[in-house]
Amino acid sequence: MVRPKTEEEIGILRENAIIVSKTLAEVGRHIAPGVTTRELDVVAEDFIRSQGAVPGFLGYEGFPATLCTSVNDVVVHGFPSDYVLKDGDVVSIDCGTVYKGYYGDSAYTFPVGDVDAATRKLLDATKASLYKGIEAAVAGNRTGDIGYAVQSYVEAAGFSVVRELEGHGLGRDMHEQPGVPNYGRRGKGTHLVDGMVICIEPMINAGGKSVYLASNGWAVHTSDRRKSAHYELTVVVRKGKAEQLSTFDFIEKDPTINF
Ligand code: MG
Ligand code: MG
Repeated sequence: MVRPKTEEEIGILRENAIIVSKTLAEVGRHIAPGVTTRELDVVAEDFIRSQGAVPGFLGYEGFPATLCTSVNDVVVHGFPSDYVLKDGDVVSIDCGTVYKGYYGDSAYTFPVGDVDAATRKLLDATKASLYKGIEAAVAGNRTGDIGYAVQSYVEAAGFSVVRELEGHGLGRDMHEQPGVPNYGRRGKGTHLVDGMVICIEPMINAGGKSVYLASNGWAVHTSDRRKSAHYELTVVVRKGKAEQLSTFDFIEKDPTINF
């Protein structure tokens, strides 16, 4: 049985989700060919601290940075590094924060400069599948309804769902129950209850679904080395329609950001 959050807890999670959302936009303002992923990490940490929050990933199970920066064939959990972003890359920025004892967690995949049409289609389909998942995140449904919504959408577009990683509940811990897979069967999985706070985060590959873990024990790569995309939002399960806590509006309403 997963405990729904109180409205007081949701209030804190809502504030924190806005901090994370603004951080993703601040990072997005700095993404361009010639920038290193380590520079983006500094931007994120400075911004998070300026908001009265602290990085949620830094030190989490030994993770060494504020952001996961996952370039091209890296699905998730890439370390910020001296890698210099180049025209045509994609970089998934996954950001966690802690604020008043609760976690925030959201992600966006940015194109670097101009990307080819196939890459554009991957980004658009992955983000659209996230919104399909959110539409299914209503009280009375189950986690399998979310997974089915994501999977059926991206597979119809010709892409594949990573199975090894999934979304999750969010609260005082970054990864709470229930797990929220990006594949599944309607009517199966954990029951969704009003007030449950979950992160939905499709990880979608241009090619096959197979992935492998890098020798550093963190970075997850596509086995065929083709690109992958990842978008994540935090929502509250409600009756009728989920309430979105984090948002991509700070990115997509800023004409200076390439998204
Ligand atoms: Mg995340
Ligand atoms: Mg997450």
